[in-house]
Amino acid sequence: MSKDHQVKAKKHLGQHFLNDESVAEKIANTLSFQGYKHVLEIGPGMGVLTKYLLQKDTITHVIEIDTESVEYLKNNYLNLANRVIEQDFLKFDLNLVFNNEPFAIIGNYPYNISTQIVFKTLEMRDQIPEFSGMFQKEVAQRICSKEGSKVYGILSVLTQAFYHAEYLFTVPPHVFNPPPKVDSGVLLLKRKENFTLPCDETLLFKVVKTGFQQRRKTLRNSLKTFNLSDNLKANSIFDKRPEQLSVQEFIELTLLIENDINP
Ligand code: SAH
Repeated sequence: MSKDHQVKAKKHLGQHFLNDESVAEKIANTLSFQGYKHVLEIGPGMGVLTKYLLQKDTITHVIEIDTESVEYLKNNYLNLANRVIEQDFLKFDLNLVFNNEPFAIIGNYPYNISTQIVFKTLEMRDQIPEFSGMFQKEVAQRICSKEGSKVYGILSVLTQAFYHAEYLFTVPPHVFNPPPKVDSGVLLLKRKENFTLPCDETLLFKVVKTGFQQRRKTLRNSLKTFNLSDNLKANSIFDKRPEQLSVQEFIELTLLIENDINP
């Protein structure tokens, strides 16, 4: 393949190539590049963001599932060639590359797998002090939203249990090729330092997911399957709907449930 051959966008891989250099540079500048040596870009495509990352004083790695994009990157960014991982981000064991060392994550992400990207990041959070990049605007807003907001949900609570989340800016469809149907949004997650979850993590995930399955109902109703004692259910926190509970209140609720199940 010749050097300037452009990658043809493939819909099933969520490919929308950014063609605005100033937006690419602005996204690359969202990380602090401090406190870690390695940066992993997910879905580099033709490298519009990658070239700005390569100017930073860190080691840039990219993970890309599309063979045609991988070939393009290897031909056009010679100093990146050894650090192109041709794999599915969701399936690949990242410690084969990072050896338990910390790394930041960045990307103009494939929107078809946004939620899974966030969940994998949460699983690996001990190694990931910073995460930034672009999602569909609605997903970026959801991740950063607070209780009471219409878009507040599972992703908001579980992400903000471990990270400070900040919505940075909106990007319109016309700067992509092909343009997506919706606006995009760039966010930044910074891990809460010296933080340990005071409650059981698996139970927290279960409480949050079960609660939001019926977001219009009170928690007393939606958490029925937990078989909680009447004594606990008399607590006024159960009068609330899930969207009214802050992250801290979800943690407190989980602690109450934990003590009720294993007194
Ligand atoms: N960052 C580029 C491309 C964005 S499109 C730009 O801004 O122009 C999303 C990219 O993610 C595509 O290159 C697509 O091939 C890649 N991708 C999709 N699913 C992936 C996966 N599971 N793992 C790694 N990369 C993936």
